[in-house]
Amino acid sequence: MPGPPLPFEDLADSWAAARPPQAGDHLDSAACSRQSERVLEATAAHARHEAEVGGYVAQAAAGSLLQQGRSVIGGLVGMAAADVAFVESATSALTVLLAAWRLPAGSTVACLPGEYGPNLMLLRAAGLDPVSLPVDGAGRVDVGAVERLLAGRPPAFVHLTHVGSHRGTVQPAAQVAAVCRAAGVPLVVDAAQALGHVDTDVGADVVYSTSRKWLAGPRGVGVLAVRPAVAQQLNPPLTAWDKAEPPMLALESHEGHVAGRVGLVLAVGEHLAAGPDRVRARLAALGRTAREVLDGRGGWRVVEAPDEPSSITTLRPPDGVDVAAARLRLLGDHGIVTTAAGAERAPGEMTGPVLRVSPHVDATLDQLDALAAAL
Ligand SMILES: *Cc1c(COP(=O)(O)O)cnc(C)c1O
Repeated sequence: MPGPPLPFEDLADSWAAARPPQAGDHLDSAACSRQSERVLEATAAHARHEAEVGGYVAQAAAGSLLQQGRSVIGGLVGMAAADVAFVESATSALTVLLAAWRLPAGSTVACLPGEYGPNLMLLRAAGLDPVSLPVDGAGRVDVGAVERLLAGRPPAFVHLTHVGSHRGTVQPAAQVAAVCRAAGVPLVVDAAQALGHVDTDVGADVVYSTSRKWLAGPRGVGVLAVRPAVAQQLNPPLTAWDKAEPPMLALESHEGHVAGRVGLVLAVGEHLAAGPDRVRARLAALGRTAREVLDGRGGWRVVEAPDEPSSITTLRPPDGVDVAAARLRLLGDHGIVTTAAGAERAPGEMTGPVLRVSPHVDATLDQLDALAAAL
């Protein structure tokens, strides 16, 4: 049953034309997107420059490009260049943040019952005590109930995963930010699935994310953005060698994948040129269409609300079907790339594994139909 046509077909064409042709059907941007030729070339060119002039000379030459990158990445999350640090991944961003914040052991942190499993492990490893944010039956945060929670026994901070790894539900991050600000409780947002996918300029105090997912940058790069009020509370184990540097630079590892950071800056530039609002609208429409096309096929059932404004669709298997084996069959027999997401991704919310489908803007109805037929 054909729904409304997908918006911004020109975006699909230009996104596809900017990249190497795909082998098969890539419906897995929540895991890792396809980089553009320009991003691949910029990353390779920086590595080549390192070989020609020396790694530190090349890094200094890329300094203003990297600073522009901090500025535009800051813009995407409502912060300034001086608030942004390049790190290695979203996981390392949270690790670095918690290590430098040094909150007293036993401090509570309010997060979703469906919080990303590895984040829970990092919070506990830092001696913190995760407590649940109130949510509705779909796992969406109940903003009124959060307001009451913060008025009662406020946690050291609220940690909100804006869009989950295990489910395409978009959390009302801007409303949560407003109640956190009113209560004087810092809000930390995991934007690993949100940056480049939904609006991340929500007024959070800390936002961290990764390069390779919706921004389609290189692997091995992440970002951590911290407002000055929280940055002042941080005690990085290493301080910047150059005291004139913005303090956030002390959170960047001295050794890093500089070529990858350069590639990410190019990828962010391409995202801005494409029009973040157009990207968001097309990704939301693709999610809506995918849920319509896929629900019930072969007995697989969509988890998300049909109109959830994200590209991510997850499917519960029919009885007796192994999700990891189904994913391998889709890949091997049909060339369709998806993710099998086990319950460890969100141990407090998932009851079993799901198949995750996450098209980027170049996906076509034909590809979604092919997946439906293969299921
Ligand atoms: C992928 C993901 C992470 C971890 O990102 P890395 O860059 O792999 O460390 C964290 N949170 C969510 C919601 C994710 O989807």
